[in-house]
Amino acid sequence: MCIFCKIINKEIPASILYEDEDVFALLDIAQVTDGHALVMPKEHVDNILDCPPVLLSKIISVTQMLSKDIVSKLGAKGVNVLTNANPAAGQSVMHFHMHIIPRYHEHDGLILKFKENPTPELKKIQDILKK
Ligand code: 5GP
Ligand code: ZN
Repeated sequence: MCIFCKIINKEIPASILYEDEDVFALLDIAQVTDGHALVMPKEHVDNILDCPPVLLSKIISVTQMLSKDIVSKLGAKGVNVLTNANPAAGQSVMHFHMHIIPRYHEHDGLILKFKENPTPELKKIQDILKK
């Protein structure tokens, strides 16, 4: 059983923020910034690529609700909401979770950098994706 399944089953303690029949939310142990939270399905799915759409929409709704709480109650000025899918994208726990990372200013705990590469052949990629 994965570590998040154990937390959901209350075999491992965690700072739980929200729980319903399908969705579970807790504070990330590492706290990139104060209030860094994770929202996940109770059912084990590896990542967003495997998540059934109806379950995904429930997770997104809870993510929005908690993001609003974080802004209003912790005084964050914004949030980054992201998910990593597969190790190539930085996923370290293979149980789907959304990160909510509160942002207090541009130079706090999170550095998100989109590297600018020379523009590839967009038409070729577009053609593949539209097929
Ligand atoms: P990923 O790298 O898979 O996108 O994110 C996994 C996250 O889970 C990391 O931010 C890490 O700090 C968090 N994490 C790993 N183990 C535990 C744990 O036992 N408890 C809690 N609350 N968070 C954990
Ligand atoms: Zn799991």
